[in-house]
Amino acid sequence: PESKIVGTSKSLAPSYDWFQTDCSVTVVVYTKQKGMNSEMVILDYEDSRLRGEIIIRDYSYLLNIELSNAVQEDIAVHVAEKVGKVEIVLKKIDNIPWKKLGQPLESHNSFIKRTDQGLYYRKCKLISKTDVTHDTKLFCLLLPQSTHFQVPVGQHVYLKQIVTGKEIVKPYTPVSCSLQTHFKEPSCHDGACLFLMIKIYPSGLFSSELDRLQIGDYIYVSNPEGSFQKSQVQTLEDLFLLAAGTGFTPMIKLLNYVLTNVNSLWTVKLMFFNKTEDDILWRDQLEQLILQDKRFEAQFILSEPSKEWNGKRGKISSSLLSEFFKRSKQDSKVLICICGSAPFTEQGERFLKDLGYCKEEIHSFTA
Ligand code: FAD
Ligand code: NAD
Repeated sequence: PESKIVGTSKSLAPSYDWFQTDCSVTVVVYTKQKGMNSEMVILDYEDSRLRGEIIIRDYSYLLNIELSNAVQEDIAVHVAEKVGKVEIVLKKIDNIPWKKLGQPLESHNSFIKRTDQGLYYRKCKLISKTDVTHDTKLFCLLLPQSTHFQVPVGQHVYLKQIVTGKEIVKPYTPVSCSLQTHFKEPSCHDGACLFLMIKIYPSGLFSSELDRLQIGDYIYVSNPEGSFQKSQVQTLEDLFLLAAGTGFTPMIKLLNYVLTNVNSLWTVKLMFFNKTEDDILWRDQLEQLILQDKRFEAQFILSEPSKEWNGKRGKISSSLLSEFFKRSKQDSKVLICICGSAPFTEQGERFLKDLGYCKEEIHSFTA
């Protein structure tokens, strides 16, 4: 089948084919891309509908089919990275020959701008909720067995709830379940769970409703989104992280990623702005990481400290930044990542530009 192409060269568009055995059906997508990986494939199977989205840079290829026969929930996805082939292996429930794969649904076999694809949501089950601080909790959501997706470093998802009859959508940044780079959550196999660190505002529309969810309740979770690219850190020597409050969330996976994968890395410095000591997220884990990894340093700065606090005080300023963010060597390859409230992020960008950092050396996490 040939795909509908909008806004890009036809020769670049992926195509698909399918074949079957007695007990399985395999859908193969030829992406015509090198360097594919499993993060680029998002698969859902619900109510006999198979939806596969393959992300190729700013574009998205969609398979959207009402399957002609029922299949089991456990679907395997194989990505042949070098040749760019994606195989989706479905297990038949009845071992009968299929005459066709199924009925095409909306936008099936299209290759369009990712931003035009629209967000797809699936229902995930809340399986645990644990306190991080007095007002912030770690929520663990279980993806449906037939869903395959991983949230890349630096990307967020949207959560959707119906509040008093109205659909409300807010972005949240999935985190690792720990800063321990080798820690594995025993109850959750890879990719099956999403961990979200969320601050509950008593008068917050969405977060207060989220806090009312009970274990076993469901919530809608979208496909991942975001502009951060791993290539921004691949050959990095210094990584400076500037976080305020829950703006710490994108830094979690980023820390895990760079400390295990970026060989060129000399230093990672985190400046973490909070109101009080009680607001510092994962302070114990951060202090442990400082001891464990010589490359990592953190500084906590409080805007409303108690009298006993001997650490840094105040809000983001040019002098605090220039004091702490010192390059490991002159002209080192550096990236500064910023995340917090909009005014915090804007001030951070401005101060850093004034200090001589260029646009390519600054990444702000925003929706
Ligand atoms: P809202 O109803 O929006 O209110 C939030 C707080 O602000 C309340 O205390 C409210 O009283 C107060 N408030 C609202 N409007 C005003 C106003 N005009 N003036 C003064 N005060 C006001 N949050 C997380 O906790 N974890 C994350 O991982 C996370 N990731 C995010 C990723 C992205 C890309 C973005 C953009 C945001 C992220 N957020 C995250 C923030 C999150 O999306 C919500 O904004 C947050 O949960 C608050 O939503 P709410 O509906 O509960 O509160
Ligand atoms: P908070 O209100 O507890 O503030 C934490 C610190 O941020 C303060 O101590 C202060 O140092 C600094 N700060 C706050 N407002 C500031 C301002 N106007 N100017 C300068 N500095 C300021 O923070 P919170 O309640 O945890 O909120 C975190 C913010 O981060 C939210 O606005 C949230 O939407 C945003 N966030 C964004 C993303 C993203 O990816 N874009 C991810 C997570 C959180």
